[in-house]
Amino acid sequence: MVNVEHLGWVPDTVGELDHRLLKAPHVKLRSHTVGPTGDVVYAVDLRINEPNKTFLSSTEMHSFEHFLLEGFQKYLPENFISIGLMGCQTGFYLILFNEGDAENICGVYEKILRDILKASEVPYANIQQCGNYMNHSLEMAQNLAKRVLEAKPHWRQVI
Ligand SMILES: [Zn+2]
Repeated sequence: MVNVEHLGWVPDTVGELDHRLLKAPHVKLRSHTVGPTGDVVYAVDLRINEPNKTFLSSTEMHSFEHFLLEGFQKYLPENFISIGLMGCQTGFYLILFNEGDAENICGVYEKILRDILKASEVPYANIQQCGNYMNHSLEMAQNLAKRVLEAKPHWRQVI
């Protein structure tokens, strides 16, 4: 049994919510899946924009995705499974193994965003490691990181 409240999540906001109510940027637990031996896979939404208002460009999303991929691998090597784009272009899906603590996840997210501000290039933006390596912008990723960091006091305010 996983007690999502003990992990720092507001139980009412776990799962799928009416997208008209969502505030952003926010960090929210989407689901947790417990395996037969007690291991848990957590799906976390890193919502950047309010749904159906404004959208991230493909370049912004792509460079941000590379940074999130690098950062979660670096800071949570035992736990990180994957990061994926929301097709609606308003955020990202983060999948973690045995790490569902809201404070820890937000702390790592903040570190990654601060690293983006100091970065001199987008990671993996080369022909060997990326399927659209010309479609990147460090400046866009940094502007986005700055905006999300400024909203940190509200990350846990989902609705
Ligand atoms: Zn890529």
